[in-house]
Amino acid sequence: MLELNLNMKLLEMCSKCGACYSICPSCTHLPGYDPRQVVADIVQGKFEKWLSSSSIWQCLECHYCLEMCYQHYGFENAMTALRTIATKRGLNPPQVKRGWDMFAKTGKLGEPALPARKKFGLPEPSKSGGEELKKVLDALKDRRGKGHH
Ligand code: SF4
Ligand code: SF4
Repeated sequence: MLELNLNMKLLEMCSKCGACYSICPSCTHLPGYDPRQVVADIVQGKFEKWLSSSSIWQCLECHYCLEMCYQHYGFENAMTALRTIATKRGLNPPQVKRGWDMFAKTGKLGEPALPARKKFGLPEPSKSGGEELKKVLDALKDRRGKGHH
């Protein structure tokens, strides 16, 4: 459980609560998305099965649950922790890896649709800052290489 780095006491309370379920946009729009089940399984030490589930990637990180939670804890923490472990184990969906690779390379998560922007009278998109980002990532890599963490 140490690997999960979650406050199990708060999660146990959370597994008995469920109050924020009805304001979570993913819960209300995505059939099958139910953080209550995820939290209950974590509390029972059965989180492994969620690592390869698409559910943990359906949390929008909108912070609604965090904001309304009387413990200021939130479903979100559980989802983020599981995504972190899934990524470390290479279980993340391929499109997540593609998205990260594109972001690291270009500073963008997608190309703006120029004809659509023109149609709506929007200005040219600003520069992505990809070059600067690359410098930061290279510097981080260097630091890690030299044993700084
Ligand atoms: S952060 Fe995730 S779990 Fe919380 S309300 Fe938003 S979508 Fe739902
Ligand atoms: S995140 Fe907070 S409000 Fe939502 S179910 Fe858990 S304890 Fe209740």
